[in-house]
Amino acid sequence: AAGAQFLRGGAYKPRTSPYAFQGHGESALNLLAAAREATGLGIITELMDSPELDVVAEFADVIQIGARNMQNFSLLKKVGAQEKPVLLKRGMAATIEDWLMAAEYIMAAGNPNVILCERGIRTFDRQYARNTLDLSAIPVLRTLTHLPIMIDPSHGTGKSEYVPAMAMASIAAGADSLMIEVHPNPKKALSDGPQSLTPERFDRLMLEMSVIGKAVGRWPEPAVALA
Ligand code: PEP
Ligand code: MN
Repeated sequence: AAGAQFLRGGAYKPRTSPYAFQGHGESALNLLAAAREATGLGIITELMDSPELDVVAEFADVIQIGARNMQNFSLLKKVGAQEKPVLLKRGMAATIEDWLMAAEYIMAAGNPNVILCERGIRTFDRQYARNTLDLSAIPVLRTLTHLPIMIDPSHGTGKSEYVPAMAMASIAAGADSLMIEVHPNPKKALSDGPQSLTPERFDRLMLEMSVIGKAVGRWPEPAVALA
């Protein structure tokens, strides 16, 4: 209702700790398909390993390759050899050149539909923000590639209270799309609760972003009326 176009959720989750929630695997793909059926939203979900490619490609509208797999060249070639669009997240220590070359692997294998997603890089300070969101990547990529640019301010900051500011800055800087984590009860989330907005905060952010988008001439009208 707030205007999101896709639902992004993980069935196979790349967790830093092997003891953290790993995702529900194939059964979660059915849940995502049911969510698409109920809402009309497109589905984006992550592929971690090639044995799951066929089943993920069958369910997903867009296949996510996560930061940790950005330079998994054999996986890139495989998603390049199938038809679903690929959302390629920037590796946490990847230069712009590394990232564009990873996109080239996908395109050289035959799939021209790649979205580049900046999700924050590792710098020296992790005390206050989980990553350093590189918004300068937006104008830089604009000069280097025609590929659409997505910003993920949720992983980019790691804290829900910082997400709105960076989401609005992303639009001002010319991002084509945003990935924003939302959870009805962030404290109970099995993954990334601290960076997840409540649905109410997400609704409000969509309205706030529409104001910025209008000012820079690149965002549609808000889907919900101002309260
Ligand atoms: C994610 O998108 O949920 C994720 C794990 O992100 P990243 O690959 O950017 O760390
Ligand atoms: Mn996450």
